[in-house]
Amino acid sequence: MQRDSFGTVRGSGRTLSVVVLTAISASCAADGPENAVVATVPAPVETTVPASATPTTSMAAPSTTTTTTATTTATTMATTPTTVPAVERSTSVGDRRYPTLGATGLDIEHYDVELEIDPARRSIDGVVEISGRTEAPTDLLAFDLDGPDVDSAEVDGASIDVLVEDRELLLPLDRVLAPGDEFTAVIEFGTSVDPGPSFGPDAGIFVSADGLWSVNEPDGVSTWMPANDHPTDKATWSFRLTVPAGDEAVANGALVDIVADDDTTTWVWEQDEPMASYLTLLLVGDYDFVDDGEITVAGDTVELRHVVLSDDVDALDRYLGVTRDQMRFFAELFGPYPFDRYGLALADSQSGLAMETQGLSLFSVDDLDGTLGPLQQLLLSHELAHQWFGNAVSPSTWDDIWLNEGFATYAQMLWFDEIGLSTLDREAELALLSLPPDGWPLSQPTDLFGSVSYNGGAVALHALRQVIGDDAFFLTLRTWVAEHLDGSASTDDFQRVAEQVWGGDLDDFFAVWVHDPDGPPDRYPLPAEDQ
Ligand SMILES: [Zn+2]
Repeated sequence: MQRDSFGTVRGSGRTLSVVVLTAISASCAADGPENAVVATVPAPVETTVPASATPTTSMAAPSTTTTTTATTTATTMATTPTTVPAVERSTSVGDRRYPTLGATGLDIEHYDVELEIDPARRSIDGVVEISGRTEAPTDLLAFDLDGPDVDSAEVDGASIDVLVEDRELLLPLDRVLAPGDEFTAVIEFGTSVDPGPSFGPDAGIFVSADGLWSVNEPDGVSTWMPANDHPTDKATWSFRLTVPAGDEAVANGALVDIVADDDTTTWVWEQDEPMASYLTLLLVGDYDFVDDGEITVAGDTVELRHVVLSDDVDALDRYLGVTRDQMRFFAELFGPYPFDRYGLALADSQSGLAMETQGLSLFSVDDLDGTLGPLQQLLLSHELAHQWFGNAVSPSTWDDIWLNEGFATYAQMLWFDEIGLSTLDREAELALLSLPPDGWPLSQPTDLFGSVSYNGGAVALHALRQVIGDDAFFLTLRTWVAEHLDGSASTDDFQRVAEQVWGGDLDDFFAVWVHDPDGPPDRYPLPAEDQ
């Protein structure tokens, strides 16, 4: 993501200005409470009374347990407590920054999302079918939901009386699902989109001049539909988006069907590669679809399909060639492009904001306005690089955000060097000089989308490159994507990959450049060959 202001630093006597990221942090309200509580709800404690008549407790599944009633005669209490599996009632994956998000013990495999969207009324009526399986015994399904009203819910055909509390939609079951059991939950819901301003600190769906757009990082999806809204649980997605006739509706994946009715049109999109919920894109408005054929990079063929507001189709032309060039450049460095398709979505969204929505990055037409200067080069390269770093490999927790933003920032520096807009050494030095005194460590930044995550992350990568050398560094990046493709991984996972590739211990390096609460040193290590 980019939600930044773009300062300009003038080179020493050169006319070329170099765009330096000065990330917004003060207004970023995306950070959750620092004192996260892992809300794994225990099963209700039932008391069994053993022969000693001393009450003990056991975690028991309510639907299968035997509860012994104490009597006044201890000698009658020879009952052996029934052995039953403990049930897990998790409503959180334990993300420190966002303690309500996700639920352990659930593996969602597919979301089938049907939305009737009326941009004029800003209303959304939806039904989502969530299919998955359980990974622990449970008698409760918990999804994230922050705002929409739930009209009805079913699990495997049985109607459920739902509970909505603390950003959670709770579906109590009348039985215990065992690990590996499949389930299908169908939830009908409705919500409305605030009239504006179009983009504030929260993620979700926003109103544009004549439609809607979304940015869902980190927790926006749960503001408009129920989901296991955490990047540790990726799934495939289907979207059936019904909008007034004359409007187009866009989501991730392939456009597989268009169903025209009298007053409405339904746009059907299939995202058949696993996707974290925060990478979902929704657009409604007057859009054109631009097919730019295919590109073969690193032996893989990638479809290039773009989406642009009808009035701004000409602006897109300027970016078709550079997108192909960037695709080739990054695939050579990072390994094969991780998905079947890529595209640019040029929307009437917030200027200064761009988002790496999976397979179809979101930009504002105010930024991609048909010119191709440093800002456009930065945005285009940054969001494309995220397809490897953030989308193919997503963060295990939101504290690991530098694995997204630091990597995409470093990729944009590599691109600037490639096209002669700057040099990597210069960009790396400017990034180091720009680092703020506070907000560290990199592995647990104060601001999710601040300079620490972006420039601090890029600085750590450049320092790592000095220590392990170019070959091990880029092999580390390629191995990182290959090993964790379609999954999520942590800062410790990245250290392990780098250590395996390089063949040495990097504890000291990570302690200084990633985990130090005072931030990194003020100069880079000497390159490996000079040490
Ligand atoms: Zn980004």
